[in-house]
Amino acid sequence: MAASVLPHLVSVAATGVQPCGPRRFAVLGAGFAGVSVAWHLLQRTSSSAPVCVELFDDAGVGGGASGASGGLLHPYNPKGKLLWKGAEGWTAALKLLSIAEAASTNGLTVDGLSSVAAPLAWRRGILRLAKQQKHAVTFQKNVNSVENDKSKVACLGAPAARELVPGLELPLDGLALYIPEAINIHPQRYLEALWMACESFAKKSSTTGCPGTQALFRNNNVASLSDLKGSYEAVIVCMGAQAKLLPELVDKLPLTTCRGVVAQLHAPPGSRDEYASQAPNLLFGTWLAAQGGRNLLLGATKDWGSLNGSPIVDEEEASSALEKLLIETAPFFPSIVNWEVKGWQAGLRAMPPRTSLGSLPLAGCIDELVQSSHSKVYLGSSVQSSVSTASTKWWMFGGLGSRGLIHHAWLGELVAKAVIDCNESVLPQILKQW
Ligand SMILES: Cc1cc2nc3c(=O)[nH]c(=O)nc-3n(C[C@H](O)[C@H](O)[C@H](O)COP(=O)(O)OP(=O)(O)OC[C@H]3O[C@@H](n4cnc5c(N)ncnc54)[C@H](O)[C@@H]3O)c2cc1C
Repeated sequence: MAASVLPHLVSVAATGVQPCGPRRFAVLGAGFAGVSVAWHLLQRTSSSAPVCVELFDDAGVGGGASGASGGLLHPYNPKGKLLWKGAEGWTAALKLLSIAEAASTNGLTVDGLSSVAAPLAWRRGILRLAKQQKHAVTFQKNVNSVENDKSKVACLGAPAARELVPGLELPLDGLALYIPEAINIHPQRYLEALWMACESFAKKSSTTGCPGTQALFRNNNVASLSDLKGSYEAVIVCMGAQAKLLPELVDKLPLTTCRGVVAQLHAPPGSRDEYASQAPNLLFGTWLAAQGGRNLLLGATKDWGSLNGSPIVDEEEASSALEKLLIETAPFFPSIVNWEVKGWQAGLRAMPPRTSLGSLPLAGCIDELVQSSHSKVYLGSSVQSSVSTASTKWWMFGGLGSRGLIHHAWLGELVAKAVIDCNESVLPQILKQW
């Protein structure tokens, strides 16, 4: 979705949102953050206070950065150290993945969404290659540290790494960090399946003791938060990089944008080039994620400051991205040059500031930001609002940066808890970065 078209699209107020059950929540954005929050809000439904979640996204489920991502999931930073809340994030993400996989294999279908019968994830591990000697030294130091669980991450010399990935080139004294449990998911299928799980859960709850529980998808653009005020108990902004374009949040969120482009590669018909079935994915600045033996994703470029969130990659951008990606990849995996480009995907990352604990997501209540902007509007135009903004609580969950998967599930659960209990203190204070 191009940022520039946002203000011109029809607002939800004009499209006529139907009221539903007693506790009504609007989740804005159907990426990793929004679908996770929707799922966890629904888990809090009860017979005395049924929950109705409306998920808004004009680009469909997974239409933003999430659907364009490589889907690589593991809890380590580039130096081989566990990320902040990495263990919690990993456990929670695996749990959500298993919920999505169950929904997908149950063969449920959702109107307007594509089939989810194909695999949602590949469990092949990740090999992070040391590009320089100093990286190898850091890997070894972190792997050998006392707090590290050596069954979950290990250093491999070049011969062992080459054995794992046929066709890999690594100098004899080269080294790689091996994360055997790492996963790559198919982000679009995962999100569609998780949303199906939401719909199915709501349907079941509404007929088994919690009537009024609902999960509704609204294919609408939300041009301004003021369009929603008074209609919901709470609104949770999960709009990724587009959150900073909302009139109420412009210049208020510490987010930098960074466009990324990913090549979808296919082994040429008849060729013997295949990615070995159990070979781990590769990380070396650029990454290579195998979706089966004959389909690879190769990404991702970094265009800092870009506001282009369009999934469409034009010829010029594609050719420049391909050149960059191949230059990075060919020294480690030379046969990559034989693979055919069958398509492109792209999205806009919402990058949070760096802190002493690394890059942390943004989460918390944004009542002050929203109300100050609304009172400015009213003062300026002398218009009296018929619905009080105070009747709706406003929340933010975003800034997931380049590693959305590791934080989306555990933090989505905490955000949902904070929203349902109307208690911001369940969220780590450090995530309120505005
Ligand atoms: C090329 C690329 C590769 C990546 N690879 C990985 C990876 O391998 N592993 C990993 O963990 N992370 C990866 N990431 C990062 C990850 O994709 C993001 O951190 C994550 O997608 C952010 O999720 P989100 O839900 O916050 O935002 P998004 O996925 O961007 O979701 C926001 C949603 O809000 C919707 N929206 C926006 N504005 C409006 C509006 N006005 N009205 C209605 N809806 C609106 C959008 O359509 C979108 O669907 C990658 C990112 C990119 C760009």
